[in-house]
Amino acid sequence: MINETHDPNLKSWIESANDPNTDFPIQNLPFCLFYNENSPNYPVEGVIIGDYVLELTNVLQPLKDEKLIEDNDFREWMLQNTINRRIVFTDNEEVSRLRKYLVELLRADCPKEKREVLQKGLFPISEIKFAVPAEIGDYTDFYCSIFHATNVGAMFRPDNPLLPNYKYIPIGYHGRASSIVVSGTDVKRPKGQNRTDQDAPPVFIPAKNLDYEMEVGFFVGKGNNLGESIPIENAEEHIFGLCLVNDWSARDIQAWEYQPLGPFLAKNFATTVSPFVVTLEALAPFRVPAFEREEGDPQPLDYLNGEQNQKHGGFDIKLEVYIQTEKMRAESIEPFLLSRSNMKDLYWTIGQMLTHHASNGCNLQTGDLMATGTVSGREKSERGCLLELTWRGKEPIRLPNGEERRFLEDGDEIIMKGFCEKEGFRRIGFGECRGRILPAD
Ligand code: MN
Repeated sequence: MINETHDPNLKSWIESANDPNTDFPIQNLPFCLFYNENSPNYPVEGVIIGDYVLELTNVLQPLKDEKLIEDNDFREWMLQNTINRRIVFTDNEEVSRLRKYLVELLRADCPKEKREVLQKGLFPISEIKFAVPAEIGDYTDFYCSIFHATNVGAMFRPDNPLLPNYKYIPIGYHGRASSIVVSGTDVKRPKGQNRTDQDAPPVFIPAKNLDYEMEVGFFVGKGNNLGESIPIENAEEHIFGLCLVNDWSARDIQAWEYQPLGPFLAKNFATTVSPFVVTLEALAPFRVPAFEREEGDPQPLDYLNGEQNQKHGGFDIKLEVYIQTEKMRAESIEPFLLSRSNMKDLYWTIGQMLTHHASNGCNLQTGDLMATGTVSGREKSERGCLLELTWRGKEPIRLPNGEERRFLEDGDEIIMKGFCEKEGFRRIGFGECRGRILPAD
């Protein structure tokens, strides 16, 4: 629902939030966990506004407002909701009340006494270390771009690129939560079994075909009990917000290990997430219909087919991937744009992913992370990983300084960005999801 918090004319007393190019105007207000001088070892809860993070719990407690929460104890409510190091709330209506309250406090006409209290909890983003927004219990990765699935399928099965289940099932696999890291964390090149020489036994070496995958993640807010499912109409009550995800992938390890049970060590050595969780409410102006299926495609089965989901289940989120190699850094060459894609091109919505995940009674838990799979579009310039962009390494990419890339080299940094723009609304963004490749041991 669009409400007064989306008003494009709202301005903040924090000047950097009024910059038309900022990812974080007062209309966005994504949540995060971060470390500060008072809490160097245990992350605290924050909300992003302009170039600053505002610490929530300790600052808002003195300003607690009886309208905000029913039991009128903000600190208690916050502690309950952010238990186990997470900034993932279980009740989207409460999140909505918090959002309204934050807008009141951060808007340009906020009284001076309140501003003075808030000032004490403001830290410049550039001086802050962020944490993964939740201690993630379970992580599931989907495969929801039909363009990605068709491209990858075409490389491995030219005669049969798209498997017959694709248009019925949001395909996914259970990933690994322990190796999820926050943007800015270096990623060590994994070692693994490589069998590119078909006539010899596999060898155990550092991965050669290291890749990224541009994905969007979403955090489960309210969970469901074991044995219960989640109707498609209610799916979004269980989703707290979205972030960017880089599903690092070692293609040579993957090619040898993936049959018959799917990805394993090719994927679980690292997954990078952006630190800021953008709420569903902040994204309300950028909702679009679910993917329009081609004529002749089957409609989703009933349990995945909801009226609201079909009308508004998609998100118009622009995604960009950049690379900066070690040599480019040394030569002060700006990161180079590898691709642009859009979340609205996914074949399945996040509501369908979530409903499908719980459809067998699998219990989803607060703080679980799900990711969409590589977001690729129709065009070549919209391919969200190097496997597709270089067509399995056959068509290398030429970088501005003459270097070429088939897959990632040591020292390469991948920078992902996401943002939403629409006439009549303020631009909002996701910040960055970045990671640099370190050599294998
Ligand atoms: Mn993936």
